[in-house]
Amino acid sequence: MPYDCIIAGAGIAGATSARILAERGKKVLLVERRPHIGGNCYDEKDDHGILVHVYGPHIFHTGDEGVREFLSRFTEWYDFGHEVVAKVGDKLIPIPFNLNTLHMVYDGQKADRLEKKLIEAYGDGSRVPIMKLRENDDPDIREIAEYVYKNIFLYYTMKQWGQKPEEISPEVTGRVPVVISRDNRYFGDKYQSEPLHGFTKMFENMLSHENIDVWTDTDCRDMLEFSDGKIYCKGKEYGGDVIYTGALDELFDCKFGRLPYRSLDFKFEHLIQDSFQGHSVVNYTVSEDFTRITEFKFLTGQKDAKGTTIVREYPFAYTGAEGETPYYAILNDENEALYEKYRELADGYPKLHPLGRLAEYKYYNIDAMCRRAMDLTENL
Ligand code: FAD
Ligand code: UDP
Repeated sequence: MPYDCIIAGAGIAGATSARILAERGKKVLLVERRPHIGGNCYDEKDDHGILVHVYGPHIFHTGDEGVREFLSRFTEWYDFGHEVVAKVGDKLIPIPFNLNTLHMVYDGQKADRLEKKLIEAYGDGSRVPIMKLRENDDPDIREIAEYVYKNIFLYYTMKQWGQKPEEISPEVTGRVPVVISRDNRYFGDKYQSEPLHGFTKMFENMLSHENIDVWTDTDCRDMLEFSDGKIYCKGKEYGGDVIYTGALDELFDCKFGRLPYRSLDFKFEHLIQDSFQGHSVVNYTVSEDFTRITEFKFLTGQKDAKGTTIVREYPFAYTGAEGETPYYAILNDENEALYEKYRELADGYPKLHPLGRLAEYKYYNIDAMCRRAMDLTENL
């Protein structure tokens, strides 16, 4: 194998690593079992010419200047403040729940009083996880917390995770805090954008380097073997580095049992009308058995596109069956202990580097994943 490094998985973790190593003069082979690059960020034009995110809506958001600078070498950006609304009864209310939402839910005087209390308790501009807000003893704040818990978190979380908010890691619900401000944007980061010509184009540019070969439709497990601390590639001992960004249990034939993940079924629909919902994302927090509907033309600025394409997301428990994709690690002590067993096994191979949302069994965003890949390759 004439490669210094083999990388499995062409998502943001694999592509960032490949580019950095290639620029340092390393010969890199990137293998991807899907027929395309981009991992879960992959986008493509559908049959109606609308750019869709095949694995659910992705927005690049970050406060990390280094990550933004790195990715800006491979794309220009369509900057916008991503806003999400929740359908509660016949109202569409801004999510995260913020002071604007407060004034839509409660009448004038009461909303003014509650606003004052929230600011006094937490400070103007603060971001309070719902599970923290529920611990507040003040009956007024408790009332808001209960409203938010019941109308925004409970049913959506039951659908997404099959568990109540108090049963899942607080890190997960903490991603969408109650925001004590009038900012309707979903994220609090300095930069919020889509790659101007799509994620796939950005990945193509990242991987376009003379030191990188990309093999799609290639499962690394068909070429790599791990035995007694040594890595074999196509039967011969391989002395280079292997960066693996797939699920770690799968690399070791699930020998300690399967790591639990949540999966999603994406149901796309094209409609011959200008607009379906007038918003990029509507969360269904108290009704329906899907979690959210994304309308792509509003997500990616394709407002003049003819017709409109939407996608509904139906969560389910990943079983490992053919055709299913693991999307979300289910963070709890038991699952993390099982993950550690696989990690110990991986640690027996000093040249094997598990990296990524799946391989590290973590809830990373795109920017955090890019940063992790920058840090790992720095030290290789
Ligand atoms: P992936 O993108 O999953 O890439 C891993 C790749 O490895 C895959 O292409 C897979 O096919 C390949 N692979 C696995 N096993 C093998 C093998 N054995 N051999 C070869 N290849 C293999 N983050 C944001 O910042 N903003 C968002 O708006 C956002 N929205 C999201 C919406 C959804 C529905 C989901 C599920 C995630 C979202 N994320 C978002 C998170 C984002 O997708 C991840 O942070 C990012 O994709 C992680 O990159 P990765 O390279 O670790 O994994
Ligand atoms: N969540 C919720 N209602 C919402 C939005 C989020 O209950 O309207 C909870 C849910 O548990 C979800 C978590 O907060 O899984 C994190 O939401 P986020 O939007 O970050 O999820 P992602 O986009 O990663 O699927």
